Amino acid sequence: MLNKDEAILADPFLDECDGDTGLPGDAVFGCAYGLNIGVDILPEAVFFRRTETTDELWILEDSDLELTKEIVRKTGPEREHLVRTRQLDAGCAFAVLRKGEQSAACEGLLGRLFFSRAGHYWPEDFQLGGIIDEATYYRVKREVKREIEENMRRDMGRKTEIIALAEELGLSPRPAVTNPGYWDARCPGKGHPLLIKADVNEFFCGYCGRKGGMEELRALVRQEEAALRRRRYPGTACEGDPARRADRSV
Ligand SMILES: [Zn+2]
Repeated sequence: MLNKDEAILADPFLDECDGDTGLPGDAVFGCAYGLNIGVDILPEAVFFRRTETTDELWILEDSDLELTKEIVRKTGPEREHLVRTRQLDAGCAFAVLRKGEQSAACEGLLGRLFFSRAGHYWPEDFQLGGIIDEATYYRVKREVKREIEENMRRDMGRKTEIIALAEELGLSPRPAVTNPGYWDARCPGKGHPLLIKADVNEFFCGYCGRKGGMEELRALVRQEEAALRRRRYPGTACEGDPARRADRSV
């Protein structure tokens, strides 16, 4: 089951802590598996930690199976020391309010982790079980995949005007994998994605700092096309500009 409770902390890529937090000695081993990061498959292990008020999911990155086993066998300061001396990246990916039975809580957070990184990272083969056994691991993966497919199907059925416009402008909009109601499209003339919120017909590009409605999207495309022409035909922005020549011939 995917945990959808409000998160106290959400850092699924360990961006905020930079993987530098270490691994608490009292965290319980969840499971280990291969993580597909697109260019490679890297080992990853998850640990579950329950405090008086919170449930936390911790990630141990890039630790091979033998080393993971050694880390799992150790607890307390010995484990923390081992993780640090081997210079492994570890950190807390999620913290939510403490709820229910431990293994079910861990399962929910694992689903949340897989879901939030889909489209970038995807878990592959199961390697080692703790409170998450092999059958549970694959069930979590299936449930996350089903949820993503349902979201995408639902969004595909809700194409709004701005989505149709983005298609017409050749920006290849697709429902955003982990963000229902949002679509990813190609930012014109750039290699990065642009985000569209379909129901309000608005787009947003965090890289360019541009946002707006359909008119602004059209303007952005026109502006990028003009910039592309200037790059292709440098120094010919006036007389030699093919766009101007084309305009004049009409
Ligand atoms: Zn952009």
